[in-house]
Amino acid sequence: MPLLDKFGRQITDLRISVTDRCNFRCVYCRSADPENYRPVDELLQWDELERLARVLLALGIRKVRVTGGEPMVRPGVEEFIARLKKLGVQDLSMTTNGQLVAERCHALIAAGLDRINISLDSLDPEKFERITRTRKFASVMAGIQAAQASSLRPVKVNAVLVRGINDDEVEAFARLARETGISMRFIEFMPLDADRHWSRDLVVPAAEVKRRIEALWELVPIAHERSETARKFAFADSPGEIGLIAPVTQPFCGFCSRIRITADGKMRTCLFSSEDHDLKPLLRGNASDQQLAAFIEERVMEKEEGHRINEPGFAQPSRTMVYIGG
Ligand code: SF4
Repeated sequence: MPLLDKFGRQITDLRISVTDRCNFRCVYCRSADPENYRPVDELLQWDELERLARVLLALGIRKVRVTGGEPMVRPGVEEFIARLKKLGVQDLSMTTNGQLVAERCHALIAAGLDRINISLDSLDPEKFERITRTRKFASVMAGIQAAQASSLRPVKVNAVLVRGINDDEVEAFARLARETGISMRFIEFMPLDADRHWSRDLVVPAAEVKRRIEALWELVPIAHERSETARKFAFADSPGEIGLIAPVTQPFCGFCSRIRITADGKMRTCLFSSEDHDLKPLLRGNASDQQLAAFIEERVMEKEEGHRINEPGFAQPSRTMVYIGG
């Protein structure tokens, strides 16, 4: 039986956050203040994460994305990727800040990773430092080059655009895609930041990004699955691809196929859920796989129709991005 919600949407994409720790402190995600990481024993063990993946694969999940925090800071992530591949995950990807990719790219591929999303919010090392609060620009660029030189495909580079911080780099990012052949994705800033600084005027609409790129180069639409978050375009005259992810100005909830598992064992049926569904009592309470599957099916049936960012009275979820994973 496919995993369906009450709107008839089939859930086929699982995002697993394997840690709430990160070696970056991006301004649109984490606070400058020390965060209270969850104690390690509150995080799901690899066996528990693998069991959840196995139960969800049996419910029709096809795509799995490993996220964080920063997934590569948790020891054993390559082994976990190998376990997921052995379970039969057809499409296995990871979202990372890229800092550790150059040195571990081969190990990720050997483990079975198919594709990768690397975050890069500025091509200016000084601005990169201001955004991420690290001096890791060179290692991230080396990570992108290593991924592009490897068999990982596609290599997607994600930039979260924030008005007044990096919106002046749209054309430079597009040029990077043309020069390297990567898929450059522009993500609208979402109200999930720890410092609660989000406001609508900080959002750079995808339509503006498209207009500015088309002022320089012709874009050709690429067919995409309805459940995909990005609207994709190729350049008419060069390699490289552009992806526009517009959750604020052009929501794509109507065809959402995603659910998330957080590192501390909560299932979130929407990125903007105001409610978490705790799986740990079942996982650590000797529930059977059937009981786990039934719990998941019941909660998915009640999956939110969509986020309410554009509705009066929208309230930012209490859980912030670093505790959810993209
Ligand atoms: S906001 Fe929620 S419903 Fe909308 S696309 Fe994202 S996860 Fe799906």
